[in-house]
Amino acid sequence: PPLHRQRHQFVIDFVKRNKPKKVADLGCGECGLLRRLKFHREVELLVGVDVSSAKVKKKMYGLSPLAADYLQPSCDQLCVELYQGSVTQKDSRLRGFDLVTSIELIEHLSPADVGSFSDVVFGYMTPVVVIVSTPNSEFNPLLPGLVGYRHTDHKFEWTRAEFRSWALKVCEDYEYEVEFTGVGQAPPGQQEQFGFCSQIGVFQRLGGKHGCNTFGDGAEEMFSYTLLFSIN
Ligand code: SAM
Repeated sequence: PPLHRQRHQFVIDFVKRNKPKKVADLGCGECGLLRRLKFHREVELLVGVDVSSAKVKKKMYGLSPLAADYLQPSCDQLCVELYQGSVTQKDSRLRGFDLVTSIELIEHLSPADVGSFSDVVFGYMTPVVVIVSTPNSEFNPLLPGLVGYRHTDHKFEWTRAEFRSWALKVCEDYEYEVEFTGVGQAPPGQQEQFGFCSQIGVFQRLGGKHGCNTFGDGAEEMFSYTLLFSIN
């Protein structure tokens, strides 16, 4: 399957195994991952955030209930919310999630904005798990005809060591642990040398699900994102 599907499949497999109830996808684009996550009964709240409202609006009605959902309502409720907003800004509606995903997003941010992203996601949203994917630049020589970055909007593409050093710093600063993996295999015998096409870090908050969140009920509300779509 194409690489973007493999990345989404990685998240779907994680959701099947871990059954998070509240899931947010940052940089959700045209909501492709959210449309697939909608079919997982354990999920109760599904949120998408993207800086581009045009992208989100393009296919967001695909997240509406199907006729069959009305004819045969399940007892499980699913709430879907889509926001226009930047991951460099804090919004209190994004706190306390079980899983936050950031698929091919950070390489679109300037270095200063990557700093804000770390602070907002790991320091403020404080989800139990964060899945981050980004291109592995060491794999680029295997991509035919590629000159420069994989996409003109990329601000950087990291080697495995560069991703690792950012991820370990995040863990140290915000009390997470991380495991590294990826999707898109190199040809047989060359995996070690080139790594995965997309590198992935799976971050777990130390203390896990039962660790105390840094915010209480009296935490201040802060709305900086614009609600585009909401459905129950
Ligand atoms: N995650 C989607 C996927 O897997 O198909 C889309 C990835 S696309 C390469 C990157 C997305 O990040 C775009 O939809 C872009 O609008 C969004 N984006 C870029 N900067 C952002 C920011 N500061 N905050 C939120 N989203 C951002």
